[in-house]
Amino acid sequence: MYHQVEKESSEDLTINLENLEKQFKYLKEKNYFPKFFTEINIPSKKSVILTFDDGYKNNFEYLPSLLEKYDLKATIFISTKFIQKGYKEYDMMTFEDIRNLNKKYFEIALHTHAHEDFRNVSIDFIESDLKKNMQLLTNENINYSTVLAYPYGKYPKEIANKMKLFSTLKNLGIDFALRIGNKVNYFPTNKPYELCRIDIKGRDTIIKFKLKLIFGRLKLF
Ligand SMILES: [Zn+2]
Repeated sequence: MYHQVEKESSEDLTINLENLEKQFKYLKEKNYFPKFFTEINIPSKKSVILTFDDGYKNNFEYLPSLLEKYDLKATIFISTKFIQKGYKEYDMMTFEDIRNLNKKYFEIALHTHAHEDFRNVSIDFIESDLKKNMQLLTNENINYSTVLAYPYGKYPKEIANKMKLFSTLKNLGIDFALRIGNKVNYFPTNKPYELCRIDIKGRDTIIKFKLKLIFGRLKLF
């Protein structure tokens, strides 16, 4: 799981280009098979799905050449409100940028419209917000995969609310939903709405990256 990409950065949610390139190079050298969520059922020994959240302009600027160079793929989770109205001081992609991403290297998926923490909003809000996310992408002629990254990686943990959420996702035709979790996933899975992503931090060294790829996290106990 990544967010922003910049030439220089020391923030957790922003990876600098040099580190990102080392990581991409490593994935290629180690024969990780890059996939989109739509290809999740293709058998392969070691698969990797690279995800980037929110829809930052810097993804559009830096990722195409890097993905092409290392023959990798990325899934970008779009929060449509961020595209329409902006997010903090950040430069976001436009709908046209998103449309122009090469489909050989990029998959678009859902990150809700309003980017609210699912623990703080009602199930009715979640349902209409997700519908809005999908409808706006459709209106903009952007194909998306029916996969959701929970905003902030969060969703209700209390069992009744969690089950209500999962049945809503199912009714909306969403196949997978992603938390953070820092674990390696195995397929087939019996937890399609709780897939774990590995949080790659901006300052992670290549050693940390390699350990995270194997164990999902650095602290083993
Ligand atoms: Zn986000």
